Amino acid sequence: MAARGPGGPAITAVGLTKRYGNVDALDGLDLEVPEGTVMALLGPNGAGKTTTIRVLTTLLRADSGTAHVAGLDVVADAAELRSRIGVSGQYSAVDEYLTGFENLDMVGRLYHLGKKRSRDRARELLERFDLVDAADRPVKGYSGGMRRRLDLAGALVADPPVLFLDEPTTGLDPRARLELWSVIEELVEGGTTLLLTTQYLEEADQLADQIAVIDRGRVIERGTADELKSRVGGSRLDFVLADEADLSTAASVMERFAPGQVTQDAASRHLTVGAEDGTTTFVDALVLLRENGVTPVDASLGKPSLDDVFLSLTGHDSSRPDTDTTSPATTKESR
Ligand code: ATP
Repeated sequence: MAARGPGGPAITAVGLTKRYGNVDALDGLDLEVPEGTVMALLGPNGAGKTTTIRVLTTLLRADSGTAHVAGLDVVADAAELRSRIGVSGQYSAVDEYLTGFENLDMVGRLYHLGKKRSRDRARELLERFDLVDAADRPVKGYSGGMRRRLDLAGALVADPPVLFLDEPTTGLDPRARLELWSVIEELVEGGTTLLLTTQYLEEADQLADQIAVIDRGRVIERGTADELKSRVGGSRLDFVLADEADLSTAASVMERFAPGQVTQDAASRHLTVGAEDGTTTFVDALVLLRENGVTPVDASLGKPSLDDVFLSLTGHDSSRPDTDTTSPATTKESR
């Protein structure tokens, strides 16, 4: 996504720490989100994403460090700040027993919008989030995607300039996820500053101008999706083999050809080889495989995925918190 937004920082955090017992949920976290842009906090379970959101939205006080949102201090100006931000995500504020309309109307009343404006705003948002048909049904009968849309609509009732979405699409099926992505994309076109957390690399890729990779309570890398990918460097070759016997032959041939760069997945008979000079290596690898009696049923040359980025930065893949800090294993099964 192209960079947007001319403004200064809408969100800044400097040296945030938060300790629970002997766990450092935040361990000196720094963050800066320019006004009118989308920042994704990308990290595995337990990385500290929710804790960051809770501190920035005044729900939790950090042990040390400072944070400002929309020019306000999250501690000293907490009450005023709450009226300037919208929050949606894991701890949904939706009431199961009220209808969609009643939920949004209630949020409007809580923000003191008055009776008429609250009702108008509720109708407007139900329309925008494609919930008109379900407006008068209790939320307990809504699908997961509908609930998330309603929750997001609730965060927008007061038209906040800064929005926080904590794992907005976790648990949604692919179709509902795509729908929500397009809603979010429309929203940020209007200039809202958005900080979202996600464990989905493709979600950060799709929605964010900037990505901050977070691991064990700190930002360990930041940049655009393309910058992060190019920092890992090189290309990757992907081969799909006809059978498992071919896979082990091919893996040992490739391991001699590109030591330490080979990953295999027995279940899908996939072999991946990291390469600095993509095209040359691709041709050489294919010739070498052929000479050793292996012809892949599929072969492709691609750029690293954000999954590769995560693995290279943290030494563990995006679905695992902090189990393996050594170098990447050579088979997916053993990671
Ligand atoms: P997830 O994707 O699972 O929500 P996360 O990146 O949002 O993960 P946090 O919820 O911020 O991570 O948690 C960071 C660390 O702090 C974890 O180790 C978690 O177990 C711990 N933690 C968070 N809240 C509490 C709490 N209230 N009491 C004790 N430990 C906590």
